[in-house]
Amino acid sequence: MAEINPKNKIALLGLSAKEISDLLSDCPSYCGAQIYGFLMDGKNFDEMTSLKKELRLRLSENFIANPVTIVRSFKGKGGTKKYLFKLTDGNLIEGVYMPHDYGNTLCLSTQIGCRMGCTFCASGLDGLVRNLTVGEMLGQVIAVNREAGGTAKERKIAKLVLMGSGEPFDNYDNVVSFLDAVSDEKGINIGERNISLSTSGLCDKIIKFADSGHKVTLSISLHAPFDSLRSALMPVNKVYGIDRIVEAAKYYFKKTGRRVIFEYTLISGQNDSDACAKQLAKITSGFPSHVNIIRLNEVKENNYRAPSVDTAASFLQKLESLGVSATIRKSLGNDVEGACGQLRRRYLEEINESAT
Ligand code: SAH
Ligand code: SF4
Repeated sequence: MAEINPKNKIALLGLSAKEISDLLSDCPSYCGAQIYGFLMDGKNFDEMTSLKKELRLRLSENFIANPVTIVRSFKGKGGTKKYLFKLTDGNLIEGVYMPHDYGNTLCLSTQIGCRMGCTFCASGLDGLVRNLTVGEMLGQVIAVNREAGGTAKERKIAKLVLMGSGEPFDNYDNVVSFLDAVSDEKGINIGERNISLSTSGLCDKIIKFADSGHKVTLSISLHAPFDSLRSALMPVNKVYGIDRIVEAAKYYFKKTGRRVIFEYTLISGQNDSDACAKQLAKITSGFPSHVNIIRLNEVKENNYRAPSVDTAASFLQKLESLGVSATIRKSLGNDVEGACGQLRRRYLEEINESAT
């Protein structure tokens, strides 16, 4: 893919006002704060018209404002919009914007690809390409907020879910710095109570995160209540089995006071039996938690099938009859290649086909 940042310019989005000031040591120190504010609105350097023209030129020559640009967007049902983003090295990532009564939500990516290798997921098919930087995570939020007509003060995004491609806790340091940057009161200021993070269950990082003082809603992708089945669907289970996950979830609740959400993607004939529902109820009993059932988004690269709507409803009923707090998540975004990683793959296939 063509290199689009041959000079390897540094992106300023993702840096603090002080860090920007330090880079522009010959400018007055308030410049850093001004530029920081403009970047949070999604402005390019040539739109920062209250800065002197020479400074704007110097910024354009030496830096990049937002390292994320929207390549394409696709409208789905109910106002859902799926985005394909390009990064400055030409890599592609994706995100989904979902309008809701309780707040417009952006689902964003934390890595390019993923190395966890879950067998039902499109993001992991080619492994991990690289981690996203703080600026590249923030850049997705700022780009979509601007496209939706928002600014940092008048946001069009109220909530974030870290559920796009990638395993957030495999990019731990950058993800934690991103949470600090996106919740900065001087910036776009999306508070942690409006952020959900989904992990495949890297237990040592769950514990570290619980100890860090951050308080986002934590979702753990469980998907199976038996170790043998979970290991077949999610190889990471061979390292962090179900017992450890439950311990980590309890610890997270103890430290943060926030109940953990267990995600459970229903896959026909795999994890939708009564025995699975019973065991799931057993695992999640005795501490505050919630089960989010998602019908599989079918991926053409594997043979897993989604269960019918009726099967999902009776699985939910079974769980509820066993006293489990559970809901079926409306899977917005299916009609626009919603499952994680699928849009990027389709786009790359298209480019490759047109190149041959
Ligand atoms: N890596 C993290 C977050 C990104 S995946 C994680 O695994 O939790 C976000 C959610 O989408 C996870 O619960 C994941 O299991 C689920 N998912 C992945 N592929 C899916 C598919 N084809 N259909 C339905 N859910 C899927
Ligand atoms: Fe990675 Fe999550 Fe996909 Fe598993 S489900 S491969 S952890 S992105």
